Amino acid sequence: MKVLIIEDEQDMLLNMKTFLEKEMFVVETATSLLEASDKIGVYSYDCILLDINLKDGSGFQLLEELKSKKIEDGVIIVSARNSLDDRLEGLNLGADDYLAKPFHMAELNARVKAVLRRRQFNGNNKISISNLSIDLEDHKATIKGELLNLNRKEFEILLFFASNQNRLVNKSALAEHVWGDHIDQADNFEFIYSQIKNLRKKLKMANAGVAIKAVYGIGYKLVEE
Ligand code: CA
Repeated sequence: MKVLIIEDEQDMLLNMKTFLEKEMFVVETATSLLEASDKIGVYSYDCILLDINLKDGSGFQLLEELKSKKIEDGVIIVSARNSLDDRLEGLNLGADDYLAKPFHMAELNARVKAVLRRRQFNGNNKISISNLSIDLEDHKATIKGELLNLNRKEFEILLFFASNQNRLVNKSALAEHVWGDHIDQADNFEFIYSQIKNLRKKLKMANAGVAIKAVYGIGYKLVEE
């Protein structure tokens, strides 16, 4: 799961980044509206954490931009401004949630996960496809109740496929999602090939009812067998 933090206070930014990375998120950052806008135009995120008071403008402008470009990344406003008007404006502009500063990191984590569950998994903490079950909270995948022994990247890849079931996932989207925005594409495609190869082997060995199919050499798709 990939998160973009837009925040101009360095300490705050670093605290959030460190915490969310420990929670297994791939975390990208932006410290201004301009930088955030550039990133959002090029990359996609599962959840954006948006500060409102930024040096070069208001986070509300970014919400308007997302809306006009029909970009559907999840958004949580994280702001010291806590008036009812601000909350309502943010939610009316399409934000999923509003978290007032100061907050506890555990609460941030819970809110991010809640947004992801709501948006991508119909409010569930578990995804089940055929005999595969993925637990979002524990970061565990099982086949018929038996734990699949996956490394962190293999788990992220499987989760990304499961949240895009039956959809073609292209290699660069997968690389960005699992390794972050600034990957060296050529190098990382090699990583992807080997991680996917291992993941396929593990799924097969466990008699999984799902398989990762290569499609036309441009990407992959998770299908039920
Ligand atoms: Ca700020």
